[in-house]
Amino acid sequence: MSAPTAAAEITTDSLLPWDDTGRPWIGGRFTEAAGPTVDDHAPATGERLARVQLAAAEDVDAAVAAARAAQPAWAALSIRERAERMEALADRILATVDRIGRLDSRDTGSPLTPMTNGARKGALYLKQIAGAALELQGRTIPASARGWHVTRREPWGVIGAITAYNHPTLYSCQKSGPALIAGNTIVIKPSEQAPLSTLLFASLTEDLLPPGVLNVVPGHAEAGAALVAHRDVTRVSFTGSVATGLQIQRTIADSGRIKSLQLELGGKNPIVVFADADPAEAADATVRGMNFMRVQGQSCGSTSRLIVHRELRDAVTEEILTRVDKIRIGLPEAEGTQMGSLISPVHRDRVLGFVEAGKADGGELLAGGGAPADPALAGGAFVSPTVFAGVQLGHTLAQEEVFGPVLSIMTFTEDADAIELANATEYGLTASVWTRDIDRALRAADAIEAGYVWVNDVETRYTGVPFGGFKQSGIGSEQSLLDDLEQCTRTKAVNIAVR
Ligand code: NAD
Repeated sequence: MSAPTAAAEITTDSLLPWDDTGRPWIGGRFTEAAGPTVDDHAPATGERLARVQLAAAEDVDAAVAAARAAQPAWAALSIRERAERMEALADRILATVDRIGRLDSRDTGSPLTPMTNGARKGALYLKQIAGAALELQGRTIPASARGWHVTRREPWGVIGAITAYNHPTLYSCQKSGPALIAGNTIVIKPSEQAPLSTLLFASLTEDLLPPGVLNVVPGHAEAGAALVAHRDVTRVSFTGSVATGLQIQRTIADSGRIKSLQLELGGKNPIVVFADADPAEAADATVRGMNFMRVQGQSCGSTSRLIVHRELRDAVTEEILTRVDKIRIGLPEAEGTQMGSLISPVHRDRVLGFVEAGKADGGELLAGGGAPADPALAGGAFVSPTVFAGVQLGHTLAQEEVFGPVLSIMTFTEDADAIELANATEYGLTASVWTRDIDRALRAADAIEAGYVWVNDVETRYTGVPFGGFKQSGIGSEQSLLDDLEQCTRTKAVNIAVR
């Protein structure tokens, strides 16, 4: 049973930066909008958390206009000054981190500690990228005998950022840090499924960023589409599903404007365990990489396909089941909870649909596959950690991203087959490889089509190392500081004749 905690006494109203209704943050303040007012719910309990007025297309217009008006003066500050403001914002986040983490935990259903850590990680990222600001440099190119040929890094102007629901505050930091330090202004559209902390984040910029430099427009797909299509938005940075990524490409084409585009999309990521790996270590890595704990599998980087050598299959599977059995699923703020609720009942049903497809395809359900028995969790969108064995290449679970706590186990005999299986999806985001043989490890790292590969490691994202997808998993990368800054600029070449 999940014990209720003192957390229940901390009202959500006391965490919110408004009295009655959340509204778009435009031009440095919460602004009355034209969109409808909706209730925002906690997926773990179904309880109403807040009322939020959504941005209609005209509010998106107003936000872009504010961002456009603010951009020249913001870009005219020195990069050092802009970086200092973002460092100060990081300090404000750190001073508020418990409140932000709790709000994110309630809004997403994920456990309190990882959500608080995510907000802290976002703040530290802002500090790190602020420290890297002066590395955003042009080049001097010896292209002619006497002339000077130099490149300058100039901002795009207004960046439109659209985010997924799983790590709201981390994304607010990752989208705004490089954009603003490079001299752009920004309009962020958070996920309609967890918009609260992005509005709190915006309110922390009051008196720190000039009005219009950072704007937030809560809303559904229509608000996102209006932002993407807006003629004054010159770069779009998107984190979400492949389907929405494709739709954004269409919207951009239909807008008749050429735009810079970053897409951080989904994954169906392999963890390959070769015959010489240690079964217990591989099982640990599989459970950790699957992100059952922390976000209930709702991470783009989750290694949701275990591809294990036939000889190790039974040992690794047994170790995985022992570990999965011990995962403590509970209310997000309850003491000791390791795994919380999915983002919504709709998503829970979608995940359970994948479980049905897994069974219908002939996979063997070894654990989970439904809601936990604890009656305290009956009001939420909980799904127990789920493990399928006997998954074959043609099965739905071998191909489609579940974005939930469902692990699929596949087997191989020859190394070459493992690589073929690893590459046999449309996705190419992360991959993890387990072996004690350095040649085997390097051959696999070379052959696997993914943007982020771990060898004898899994799950951790290292700040400074670019995280981005191959194939359908996206274009561009994030988290690498200098690359992030560079992607938020365009290059101007200046050729100076010396007479
Ligand atoms: P989603 O694509 O449903 O929604 C993401 C955002 O796009 C939301 O803010 C949504 O309102 C907005 N949106 C929806 N339709 C739109 C449209 N037509 N035009 C503009 N914006 C639109 O994704 P989700 O369910 O929030 O998140 C889960 C997905 O995100 C998974 O596929 C996951 O793998 C992916 N993801 C990727 C990364 C990464 O870094 N690669 C990180 C987190 C999540």
